[in-house]
Amino acid sequence: MELKDMLYEGKAKQVFLTENPNRVVVRYKDTATAFNNIKKATIVGKGKVTSAISALLYEYLAKAGIKTHFVELVDECDQLCRRVQVIPLEVVVRNTIAGSMAQRLGVEEGVEPQNVIYDLYYKRDDLDDPLMNDHHAVALELVSYEELKVIYGLAEQINTLLLELFRRAGIRLVDFKMEFGRTPEGEIILADELSPDTCRLWDIETGEKLDKDRFRRDLGRVREAYELILTRLQAVKN
Ligand code: UDP
Repeated sequence: MELKDMLYEGKAKQVFLTENPNRVVVRYKDTATAFNNIKKATIVGKGKVTSAISALLYEYLAKAGIKTHFVELVDECDQLCRRVQVIPLEVVVRNTIAGSMAQRLGVEEGVEPQNVIYDLYYKRDDLDDPLMNDHHAVALELVSYEELKVIYGLAEQINTLLLELFRRAGIRLVDFKMEFGRTPEGEIILADELSPDTCRLWDIETGEKLDKDRFRRDLGRVREAYELILTRLQAVKN
């Protein structure tokens, strides 16, 4: 596939224009970053694993009727995607308390609350992606209340589907982050990436962390953990 100009370069991905104005190519890079870019590294081979996992999860969700920006893999690290206007919000779903929520509220990591938790973060590197609520997001004109209703509905459906798939793969889906985009027709669809870079995934039996916390917390064997996730998902995806 012939790529045109680079539209955008982020911490873990590049986005290229194509001959089709409604399609972009998203390239997954081997870079890992954490703590708003303070910690950086190259993990050789990571891009192709995160791309493969993301593609597998998007295909699984599409089969269940969830619309995503993903069209097809055009190369190991390159995904042809629908061009959308990305809403600058990170939508985090938490089934188990971990990470920033555990720290901020003084809860032990691993506690399973009675309810699923939905958080919004404002995508602004210069502000360190602050936590915000629905009213803040509407006041800043990032989304409307109607769009938030759609986003929360999709987040709930996606969580149910992913919990089930990961459970079959022997993996506990602790939490994950999503981003949504608007199509030219104004429809809201899932965009960005779903991979161990954006999810917390623990082995159901052993509790071993198989996600980006291996990088954040210097646990080692990052790519190997991601490869294990891919192998396990491939075994249960159908
Ligand atoms: N997350 C992400 N990108 C971010 C922040 C968080 O993909 O910029 C994911 C993270 O991997 C985890 C979930 O969102 O699966 C919740 O992250 P948390 O708020 O606990 O923040 P962190 O511990 O990453 O600071």
